[in-house]
Amino acid sequence: MAYKKTEQYNDKITSRLTEGYREALGLLGEDPDREGLLKTPERIAKAMQFLTQGYQMDAKAILNSAKFTEDVQQMVIVKDIELYSMCEHHMLPFFGKAHIAYIPNGYITGLSKLARVVDVYSRRLQVQERLTTQIMDAIRETLNPLGVAVVIEASHLCMMMRGVQKQNSVTTTSAFFGEFEKNETRSEFIRLIGSKLH
Ligand SMILES: [Zn+2]
Repeated sequence: MAYKKTEQYNDKITSRLTEGYREALGLLGEDPDREGLLKTPERIAKAMQFLTQGYQMDAKAILNSAKFTEDVQQMVIVKDIELYSMCEHHMLPFFGKAHIAYIPNGYITGLSKLARVVDVYSRRLQVQERLTTQIMDAIRETLNPLGVAVVIEASHLCMMMRGVQKQNSVTTTSAFFGEFEKNETRSEFIRLIGSKLH
């Protein structure tokens, strides 16, 4: 999967975040001056900028950058796209797979671009439901296809690590547009991705 790893960090944001995380470590009962933690606040500051870089990215521009005229109307499926995001309620990771399909209507896009659209929206603070819909809408609005389907299967650390501790629960969300609102097309897609979704 092709995506550019951002190693450009805004110095001002990095230093202010570093200060904040240093203070947070102290508040949590740690000693931010002990050797193992000296660089931790800055590492968190950079990691968080990396994990939220989606705010700086434009999904439609990415899809448009590889939009081609093509007279096909067969279902295009990209399944098992790795996905890592953070829930907006606890800023804890949720991760899993996204499956995307669309039925072209004059235009197709690069398959790797679909995977990048997943990154654009997952590298933000999210809820899985909105992530699913945003991916669908970006494809729908850019390619004007006959149908779009997005299914996401993810495990949420905020459920697994705290409170309810449902270790093996996977949350499945889906969004369907156009042809995929028909039972037959939707069933074919779900069969092809091998999901347990019904
Ligand atoms: Zn959460």
